Amino acid sequence: MSRAPGSPPVGRDAHLVAQIDAIGNQLCQAVDGTFDFYVHTDSDEIAIQKLAQLNNFTLDAVRRTIGELEQARRELEVRVEERTQRLNLILSATNDGVWEWEIDAGHVTLSPRWARMLGQESAEIRQSFEMWLGLIHPADRSTVEHAFYRHLDGLSDAVDIEYRVRNARGAWRMMLCRGLCQRDERGRALRMAGTLSDTTEQRLSDPLTGLPNGAYLDLLMQEKLGGLPRPPLSLVKFQLLNVAQLFDGVAVERAIAALRKRVQALRQRLPARVALMALPEHTFAMVLELDAVAELDRVLEPVEALLAEPVEIEGRLVWLSHVSGVAIVSLHEAISADEWRRQARLALASARQSDIGTRCYYSESLRQWERHQGRAEQMIRGALANRGVCCFLQPIVDIVAGTARGFEALMRLEDPVEGLVNPGAFVEVAERTGLIAPLWEMLMDQALPVLKDPGMRERFGETFLISINLSPRQLMDSRLLELMLAACARHGVAQSRLQVEVTESAVLSDPARASRMLERMREAGIQVAMDDFGSGYSSLAQLTSLPLDTVKIDRSLVLDVSTLPRKQHVLAAVVALCQRLEHGVVVEGVEDWETVRLLRQWGVREIQGFFYARPMPMAQLIKQFELPLPLAAAGASANDAAG
Ligand code: C2E
Ligand code: CA
Ligand code: CA
Repeated sequence: MSRAPGSPPVGRDAHLVAQIDAIGNQLCQAVDGTFDFYVHTDSDEIAIQKLAQLNNFTLDAVRRTIGELEQARRELEVRVEERTQRLNLILSATNDGVWEWEIDAGHVTLSPRWARMLGQESAEIRQSFEMWLGLIHPADRSTVEHAFYRHLDGLSDAVDIEYRVRNARGAWRMMLCRGLCQRDERGRALRMAGTLSDTTEQRLSDPLTGLPNGAYLDLLMQEKLGGLPRPPLSLVKFQLLNVAQLFDGVAVERAIAALRKRVQALRQRLPARVALMALPEHTFAMVLELDAVAELDRVLEPVEALLAEPVEIEGRLVWLSHVSGVAIVSLHEAISADEWRRQARLALASARQSDIGTRCYYSESLRQWERHQGRAEQMIRGALANRGVCCFLQPIVDIVAGTARGFEALMRLEDPVEGLVNPGAFVEVAERTGLIAPLWEMLMDQALPVLKDPGMRERFGETFLISINLSPRQLMDSRLLELMLAACARHGVAQSRLQVEVTESAVLSDPARASRMLERMREAGIQVAMDDFGSGYSSLAQLTSLPLDTVKIDRSLVLDVSTLPRKQHVLAAVVALCQRLEHGVVVEGVEDWETVRLLRQWGVREIQGFFYARPMPMAQLIKQFELPLPLAAAGASANDAAG
């Protein structure tokens, strides 16, 4: 059957078209993404039924494939989820944040954990690489950039760098950043990704006290100095001098706990915004935004008051001694952090030389003092290298017998520029630096032969003593006695011809130990004299409890005694006390006859002073020093002395 082109189909044609159309309409659902249906046809036409059947086969195959794909996807999802959880677990266990740098796009994506580490909201952050670098401490920025680009250029195996970054609260944190580059088959870098760990605890905090540490102080100082406008500033450092006392006979953890508790209490006495930082050697620091001493007092006095209170540890009370140093930077002063730190260190060092509890402020004169100390140390080292230590001798005169009871060995240094230098210019530095010990050994090698010198023996007999000064440090050195005995043996002199002079301050730091040392010396036949008695905080207890042969009364009690009646009372009382305790008495610093006369009235026999002789080298002593004629004992009149 044929029909004209353009005319509608009729009969069987029309039926076939309608059936194909119906199948097409049903397949539209498949185009919409629904495959779970079967194509239907009412037609008896074999071709149509075949078409519907084939469509249903195809749909079946598609359904199966989709089902398999979905199953695979579900399995994949489960695996991804498991892996993500595992990774998250690892990252949260290590406290790490994750970053990813898309190199072509130029942005960095940061994980929520990373954001939280910096105190920001815990959402994923995306920012430009430059913005990211901008958070880094200016001093670290170029190093970080360098590390990234080196790895990018294939010059390093990985990025592994630590830097400081400011968190959302404005505080500096220390971060360890690690990363690796992913490259395409031609080696071109596609992206870099890695982790970030907060190492602030390890790097910026002090393990013993838990306070921020010296590195943190450096950050703070730079930041405060760099601020514009900048307020006046003070760097305060204080040092606990005897923390060892806390640990004495106590379990270490207990002592540390006690120390931490005290430090926490100190922190609480400070204004909340002032950080207390822990530095080495039990030193603490803070930066205050003020420069007036009265205001500093207001902040520091409560802290100092607390420091003066004892720490209780296992039912025992321990008093901690402290000193402090302050360096002020006034409003418009330009100063580097290094110089500021130096000034505070110097102020603290100067406070250490003073009494406990002292607060020292940096000043120009301190700088000069430091220069002097530096020069003195150089001079000492020069003298030691060139054997430039000289022994001067000053007689201790027995005025009743008209003999020399002994000679004090006094140290001088030979300096190529300054000539002969007196101890006033170097002894303090020598003690502080520990150089006093080698100086002393050189002095001993000159002083001991004096006892055997024929000229000395001829002029002053066979029984005079050599009296030698010991520094506080030496007295605490357990090898001291050994050294002295060895020196005596080396020079073939008897220990009984030796006297040591120790000061009260030397004994004060550890009286029990000093006492034991002195006792051992006396057992070895060496005589012990307390030097400079009456010059410092004289403790009468020491006069009675220390193993002493002789007390040397200090020049300060003697000065002007002949013209000041009140001083006479004091000196007379001190002399009487020493005599009562049956110590030998030497009065030092006697410069005039009037004083000799007074002393003799009070029964003093032994005098050392310019009135009889200044310290001088042995050769000069033999040649020039004339012993005085014997004086009658106490009660004789001034006329007796005329001869
Ligand atoms: P010091 O042990 O009290 O020694 C006495 C000091 O007083 C000496 O000063 C002496 O010259 C001075 N002096 C003696 N008589 C008079 C006087 O009548 N008037 C006045 N104004 N001064 C008098 P020098 O030799 O300068 O020694 C000063 C200090 O240096 C000594 O005081 C001692 O503390 C220390 N020193 C000296 N040699 C040594 C040493 O070998 N080792 C140690 N550790 N210190 C030493
Ligand atoms: Ca002395
Ligand atoms: Ca003295």
